[in-house]
Amino acid sequence: MLAVKGYAAHDAQTDLAPWTFERRDLAPHDVQIEILYCGVCHTDWHLLRNEWGHSQFPLVPGHEMVGRVVAVGAHARKFKVGDLAGVGVMVDSCRHCPDCENGQEQFCQVSPVQTYNSTGHDGLPTYGGYSNHNVVHEDFAHRISDKLDLAAVAPLLCAGITTYSPLRRWKVGAGHRLAIVGLGGLGHMGVKFGVAFGADVTVLSTSETKREDAKALGAHHFIVTKNPEEVAAATGRFDFILDTVAADHDINLYLPMLRTNGTYINVGMPLAPLQVSSFSLANGNKTVTGSGAGGLPETQEMLDFCAEHNIVSDIELIDIKDIHPAFERMLKGDVRYRFVIDMATL
Ligand code: NAP
Ligand code: ZN
Repeated sequence: MLAVKGYAAHDAQTDLAPWTFERRDLAPHDVQIEILYCGVCHTDWHLLRNEWGHSQFPLVPGHEMVGRVVAVGAHARKFKVGDLAGVGVMVDSCRHCPDCENGQEQFCQVSPVQTYNSTGHDGLPTYGGYSNHNVVHEDFAHRISDKLDLAAVAPLLCAGITTYSPLRRWKVGAGHRLAIVGLGGLGHMGVKFGVAFGADVTVLSTSETKREDAKALGAHHFIVTKNPEEVAAATGRFDFILDTVAADHDINLYLPMLRTNGTYINVGMPLAPLQVSSFSLANGNKTVTGSGAGGLPETQEMLDFCAEHNIVSDIELIDIKDIHPAFERMLKGDVRYRFVIDMATL
C-alpha cells in the first residue's frame, strides 16, 4: 500500500486536519500522480458538513487535482513518468453500461466511483485531492497541457467541465444571450466559456462589488439581482440562463428573464428543492433542465479547448492550513474566483 499525506475531517462537525492514510498499490493500468494543486469546490464544503446526508468519514475532499505522473502500472500506456495529469470528479466506472458507452461515465449505472466519498472497485474508500498522491486507472486521468499555468488549470477539472458541458450540449454561441447566475467558481468559468463560444454574456450577481471583475472576465453586462429595477429591465432577455448558485434561492426571480423558448440550466446543488411556478414555465414555453459534470471524452475536449484558447481559472493560491478561512470566504460569496491549494504546503 502507498502511504499518503492529506487533510481529512473525521465527522461533519470538525474541521479538516492533517491525516495519513493508504492508497492501493499500482495496478497494471494505474498511474500514480503526485498532486501539485487542488481546487476548492463548493461541493467539498457541502460534503464536509454532510449537507446532502450521504457523507462518509474520514473524508478527504478535492476533485480538481493536477500533478505529475510519478509511476505507471505495467500495462498503462496513456502516460509516462514526468507527464502532467489531471483528475476530476470521478475515478472509475463500469465502462459497459449505456452511459459509459456514451461517454457519460459520470452517470454510470453499474459501478460509478466518485473521486472521494465513494468506494473504489478495489473495495477501499476513495479519498480526494487534498493530499499529496493519488492512484487512479489511467482512463480517469486527463492529459494536461504544459502551456497553461498549472495551478489555474486545476479548477477546470470540475468548475470547468461542469459549465462547459451544458453550454456545449445546448449549443450556446453567437447570436445567443446567456446569463450566468452567481459569480463564483463555476460561474466565472461559465462566463469565460460563454464568451469563448461567442455568446453575449450577462452576470446575474448578488454582489455589486463584482461588477468590474465580471467585465474583466469578459462579461458584456452585469445585473445586481438585489436591484428590482435592473431585474425588471431584463425581463424576456435571455436565451439561456446557467444557474451556479450553491445556496437555497428562488429561481422564480430569474425565470421571467428568459425569452420565449428559453432554457434555464441548473448546475448548482442547494439542498432545498427548486420551486418552479407553472405559470412562468407555460408562459413562453420555457425549459428548466440540469447538468452534472461531464464525461471523460468531453473533459479532455474541454481541457484541449482551454489549452488552445488560453483559458484558465482566476485563482487565489492558498496554503492548505488556510483551508477553513478560504471556506468562510467562499460561503460569503467572497471567492475571486477559485481557491486552489498549493500542495507543496502540505
Ligand atoms: P461558489 O464558488 O461558492 O459560488 C457560488 C456563487 O453563488 C457565489 O459566489 C455567489 O455569487 C452566488 N450566491 C451565493 N449565495 C447566493 C444566494 N443566496 N442567492 C443567489 N446567489 C448566491 O460555489 P461553486 O464552487 O461555484 O459551486 C456552486 C454550486 O455548484 C455548488 O452547490 C456545488 O456543489 C455545485 N456543483 C455542481 C456540479 C454539477 O455537476 N452540477 C459540479 C460542481 C459543483 P454572487 O456573489 O455573484 O451572487
Ligand atoms: Zn466540484
